[in-house]
Amino acid sequence: MTIVDTPERRQLRELTRAFVTKEVLPYLDDWERAGEVPRSLHETAAKVGLLGVGFPESVGGSGGDLLDSILVTEEIIRSGGSSGLIAALFTHGIALPHMVASHDDGLIDRYVRPTLAGTMIGALAITEPDGGSDVAGIRTFARRDGDHYVVNGAKTYITSGIRADFVTTAVCTVLPGSGALSLLVIDKGTPGFTVGRRLEKLGWHCSDTAELSFVDVRVPVANRVGPEDTGFLAIMQQFATERLSLATQAYATAQRCVELATRWCRDRSTFGRPLASRQLVRHRLAEMHTRAEAARAYVHDVAERVVTGQPVVTEVAMAKNVAVAACDFVVDAALQLHGGFGYLRDAEVERHYRDARILGIGGGTTEIMNEIIAKGIGL
Ligand SMILES: Cc1cc2nc3c(=O)[nH]c(=O)nc-3n(C[C@H](O)[C@H](O)[C@H](O)COP(=O)(O)OP(=O)(O)OC[C@H]3O[C@@H](n4cnc5c(N)ncnc54)[C@H](O)[C@@H]3O)c2cc1C
Repeated sequence: MTIVDTPERRQLRELTRAFVTKEVLPYLDDWERAGEVPRSLHETAAKVGLLGVGFPESVGGSGGDLLDSILVTEEIIRSGGSSGLIAALFTHGIALPHMVASHDDGLIDRYVRPTLAGTMIGALAITEPDGGSDVAGIRTFARRDGDHYVVNGAKTYITSGIRADFVTTAVCTVLPGSGALSLLVIDKGTPGFTVGRRLEKLGWHCSDTAELSFVDVRVPVANRVGPEDTGFLAIMQQFATERLSLATQAYATAQRCVELATRWCRDRSTFGRPLASRQLVRHRLAEMHTRAEAARAYVHDVAERVVTGQPVVTEVAMAKNVAVAACDFVVDAALQLHGGFGYLRDAEVERHYRDARILGIGGGTTEIMNEIIAKGIGL
């Protein structure tokens, strides 16, 4: 029995599966077409206790740790959900942790509790049009003016940016590009803050993605998360959770696609025999299964080490790359095994194939993970 597999966690798995079956599967295609999930889904997920998993009860969460969040992510995808759904419904997983870690009661009451109750939606804005990999190079500038900051700049590719009520925004507080960063929580509707067009994407269709613009936006100093100029460290500390979530989405997508492909290969006959009876097909499925399971085992291992407070920056980067590589291999092979049907919107595997492509880009690209790994091994 692994740490992830306790009686309580089996219950959480069942709860998640029931939620997906009842509240997601009948509507997911509609949300994919609409380009977003409804706000009511956040409230429903909060009511059954899923939205707050991984957040302490003291801030309005349901308790549990990173392993519980991983379990929920895994089960949502394995029950027929998608990584796009996770991105849309669990954006608070990246928008809130810095506030929780700051122990700022004002921010926790105004943003964390309502978001975990499903009545507010938050987003995290780090990436800028000039670049996302170089976080220290952020140019959105916050000039101090009394008890406010005056923010000017732009962000792009922001998940849930269209629907978000607030955006946890990375700004530079010394000189643009100096790397002295702070996080400011900026409310939708603040004069000068505009949400640009809804960005159209290859995948993650049910997850809205936006460009944001800030022109002389006055943000109270009380909306700063933690002390000034500590934003870079705060962002880096929370990246571990985001990267492991993306790694989980990757291996869970792979697992789901192995299941879909196996089912298909048992049912589909060519030249008078089921596909699954062909050695080439059986070995392909065996390899897909092996890669998905190996990725899952490694991600769990690294997550357990994160939970026990071990320094695993390098391992987190490796876990993301291992899981993304497994996912890329599996979604491609699964689609191929489905033949022409795999290319159709009617095929679930088609959605996973498109959704998977972002996993090696978001939360730090595969190349940036390799940079971290290279440093970790002393290069
Ligand atoms: C659907 C979607 C959702 C997103 N959601 C969010 C969000 O909610 N919040 C947010 O802040 N951002 C979000 N992002 C942005 C995402 O995190 C960035 O796209 C990512 O970090 C890469 O930044 P970039 O696109 O600017 O690429 P760049 O930094 O311009 O990199 C371009 C290419 O160059 C490579 N590269 C860069 N530097 C090096 C180097 N030193 N050595 C070798 N190769 C290098 C990269 O790996 C990449 O392949 C989202 C993106 C997408 C597409």
